[in-house]
Amino acid sequence: MTKTTTMGSLRELQKLDRRISEIRSRIRDFDPLLAEVEEPALRLEDEHGKASTRLEQMKTDARRLERSAEDKQARAEKLDERLSQVTNLREETAVKTELEMVQRSIDADEQEAMQLLEQVRQNELLVDELQEQSATARAEVLPRQEELLDERSGLDESLAELSARRDTVLEMLGTRERQVYESFHGSGRAVVVAALTEDGACGHCFGIVPLQQQNEIRRDEGLHRCEACGVILTSEPEEEPDPVPVAPIESEESEESEESDESAEPDDAEASEASVDS
Ligand SMILES: [Zn+2]
Repeated sequence: MTKTTTMGSLRELQKLDRRISEIRSRIRDFDPLLAEVEEPALRLEDEHGKASTRLEQMKTDARRLERSAEDKQARAEKLDERLSQVTNLREETAVKTELEMVQRSIDADEQEAMQLLEQVRQNELLVDELQEQSATARAEVLPRQEELLDERSGLDESLAELSARRDTVLEMLGTRERQVYESFHGSGRAVVVAALTEDGACGHCFGIVPLQQQNEIRRDEGLHRCEACGVILTSEPEEEPDPVPVAPIESEESEESEESDESAEPDDAEASEASVDS
């Protein structure tokens, strides 16, 4: 009885691990898919970000230019004042020359400031436009993105359930079986348990199993491994219904009730149920 449970558990683990690895690979597939879906929105958001940074830089430049123009203006006023206080021609010429230089510099600054302000204005339009475009793109990708994320979180849930079930099944095993299973699984092998065939071969590699070992396997004595490929051998035939608990295949109750409907006597119904279970 214990052996039956052990082999059943090992097989269930095998199936659980296959499904876990399948789901993990499907989950991994979501990353490139999500990136692809989001790409148009990300690209526009990136452009918008860069344009905004450029705009800020231009505004900073414009403010610096403004401050510089103010300083020069103050200097021109001082020179103007000095001009009214000059005592000789030489001094007057010098002050006038400097004043002209300052004035030219102010004019150049003003010219530059005007150009810069025009660029600021154009960039503001561009930033607004890009913001609108990226908001539209973001809204467009959202439904598909949510769909994918929902799908992925469904898989995450299945994975959590399968992993929990795996832990439970592992606990049901003896230490030796658990170690054998984990070392097999850890080395990346999908098949850990195989049935002994009727003619005494390993159900995985079909290598012939020594007669004495065959007998012990058939009598459920001890843990036997195929000498050729190392799988754990069992005489139990592979059971068909998948024991994975995530999606109950169909309600057994309805089947059973049908059976009991067909069979007139309740004793027969019980007997057939018992034979289904064994
Ligand atoms: Zn084998």
